This record gives sequence, C-alpha cells and structure tokens, in this order.
Amino acid sequence: MTSEQRVVVIGGGLAGLRLAQRLGPAAAVTVLGEESHVPYNRVLLAEVLAGRYAPR
Ligand SMILES: Cc1cc2nc3c(=O)[nH]c(=O)nc-3n(C[C@H](O)[C@H](O)[C@H](O)COP(=O)(O)OP(=O)(O)OC[C@H]3O[C@@H](n4cnc5c(N)ncnc54)[C@H](O)[C@@H]3O)c2cc1C
Repeated sequence: MTSEQRVVVIGGGLAGLRLAQRLGPAAAVTVLGEESHVPYNRVLLAEVLAGRYAPR
C-alpha cells in the first residue's frame, strides 16, 4: 500500500480499529463511527463494570 492511498473505515468497533491499526502509516485512514463516545474494548466491559479494571 502506498502513502497516496486513502482508506475510510466505517465503524469504530474492534474490527474497524484493528484494521485501521494494521493499515498504519502506510495509508491515510479515516474511521467513521456512529457512536458519540471514543472507541473502547467491549470485551473488557464486564471486567470494568465488575471493578477489576479502571475505565482508563
Ligand atoms: C458487554 C460485552 C462483552 C463482550 N465480551 C466478549 C468477550 O469476552 N469475548 C468476545 O470474544 N467477545 C465479546 N463481546 C463481543 C465483542 O464485543 C464483539 O464480538 C466485537 O465487538 C465485534 O466487533 P466488531 O468490530 O465486528 O463490531 P462492533 O464492536 O459492534 O463495532 C461495530 C461499530 O460500527 C458502528 N457502526 C455500525 N454501522 C455503522 C454505520 N452505518 N456508520 C457508522 N458506524 C457504524 C457501530 O456503532 C460500532 O461502533 C462482548 C460484547 C459486549 C457488548
């Protein structure tokens, strides 16, 4: 992938963010998400709610 390539990822979930990370600096990546908050790891949500991890 060349630096001229631009990629738009629809959805800021785990898959979308992982794809954006993998594309990295090799492409100009824009992530479009419909959620009002920043992306988070849903898999760890139960652990955060249980108090085993801090939200951030
Ligand atoms: C509380 C909880 C606990 C979980 N625990 C586990 C676990 O322990 N292990 C496990 O394997 N999985 C777990 N999961 C499931 C895991 O979170 C999902 O499998 C994973 O999030 C799927 O990732 P995804 O990127 O495909 O979809 P999502 O994370 O759902 O991301 C899709 C994103 O796209 C956005 N979107 C959709 N349509 C549009 C649009 N038209 N325009 C813009 N944005 C759009 C959505 O708002 C969302 O942010 C859990 C889920 C929850 C809710």
